[in-house]
Amino acid sequence: MKYQHALALNPYARDSTATMGVFPSTGLEYIATNMKDLVGKVTLLDLRYEPEYQDAEALSGFIRKEIDLLCISITWSSQFSAICDFIAGLPDEVTTVVGGNKATAEVETIFERCPNVDIIVRGEGEDTIKDIVNDLPLKDIQGLSYRENGKIIHNANRDLPDILHVPYPDRSLRRHPYRWTQNGVQVSNLTFDTVLASRGCPFNCRFCTFNLNPLGQKRKYVERQLESVVEEIKGITADVIMFSDDNFFTNPERSKLLCDQIIANGIKKSFIVQTRIEITRDEELLKKTEQAGFKIFLVGVESPHDKILKHFNKGFNQSQIREAFKIFNKYNIFIHGYFIYGNIGETEEEMVYIAQFAKELKLDSISFQKLRVDKFSPLKEVIENTPGYHYTASHGSVYSDRYSIKDLKRIRNRIRFKFYTLPQLGRLFRKIYRLHMISDREWLGVFMALPGILIDALKKEFKKTRKRKLTK
Ligand code: SF4
Repeated sequence: MKYQHALALNPYARDSTATMGVFPSTGLEYIATNMKDLVGKVTLLDLRYEPEYQDAEALSGFIRKEIDLLCISITWSSQFSAICDFIAGLPDEVTTVVGGNKATAEVETIFERCPNVDIIVRGEGEDTIKDIVNDLPLKDIQGLSYRENGKIIHNANRDLPDILHVPYPDRSLRRHPYRWTQNGVQVSNLTFDTVLASRGCPFNCRFCTFNLNPLGQKRKYVERQLESVVEEIKGITADVIMFSDDNFFTNPERSKLLCDQIIANGIKKSFIVQTRIEITRDEELLKKTEQAGFKIFLVGVESPHDKILKHFNKGFNQSQIREAFKIFNKYNIFIHGYFIYGNIGETEEEMVYIAQFAKELKLDSISFQKLRVDKFSPLKEVIENTPGYHYTASHGSVYSDRYSIKDLKRIRNRIRFKFYTLPQLGRLFRKIYRLHMISDREWLGVFMALPGILIDALKKEFKKTRKRKLTK
């Protein structure tokens, strides 16, 4: 055995997404689980939950004393520069392997900025990490870039792993449960986990890079065996499970079987899924999901405008979205809509219309992102060939001669304040209450942790009322 003690490290001390640290680092846990029987010991450290190791010096002390293989996951574009600095401050003498989506897209930059990084795993890394810990010659391992005699060697890409034979994350490697915390304060006693029941998505939305890895390899839609998924869920102690599948209901018949098994096994959890609107064509499935505990649907609506939906190759139009939401709203499900603004040819008023459209659909909450391109996203070429449109080098955020990044931020705030009004917040909390997602005692914590966005909305509403009173 070449390595006695491997450290699998999530280097992000704070979350890069809106999920507020409630969910584990799934990709890193897959890597840790896949190498655990091939090394003496694995320690899994998620810095969001390990304040004593957030300081590079303290972490370096632990690494020098204990660790002979350091595996780090770099997933997000945000904080990328700070994460590179953090990694560069870790010990040079320990074999350091970096992987993850962002690492795959930024191989050269990471080698340049982090002289202590020896190897970068590109693409999905479950098989590659096994070859590394089994001490295969680096030149023979596909999917790697590594240093040799002062040069960077890039091996050929590796085929995507066969997920039917990839073990799911071993939760016993965790050092703590995952809870909802805000600014370091625990909001709720609920515990959270994630399950990946399938990988890939058969659709081809033009803006999407979920089902492409940063090497441009498209992940064919593949399903794990249902028995294995149910076995995994049965072993989970968390109250809330999010399926990280790109599009959970791709195979409705399989989804029904999964619901049946959840019910038959007496599994009492709350589930969160990402889905397309097509699920509303199958009300039998919607009924089953309600019975099985599926409480939050994250729905990719993307835009209210047919010209943009068509350009995205989304596969549906505004009137189909409206019809789908009439059906969604018959069920006791919390529905969150994803939107993209700042699209090619989109005017400010068209962007702001997202808020009104979302209200017409009776969405409980929404999030909206600027149009972005990734290294291999099909949109990159489109933006490059559209006069007046550009993207930032750091995040791939698209902007134009007409709407700068600053303008887009202002527009984002307009959408936000138009949607998150007091009545809307009331609707949102009523829905959470109806779904019994939070106990009575936890409401206080939730209110105290209301994100800035909601507090801003309240302030704005207050100012408006005051102004009205003063003008009377
Ligand atoms: S349905 Fe979702 S995951 Fe699939 S290609 Fe479209 S945006 Fe991507």
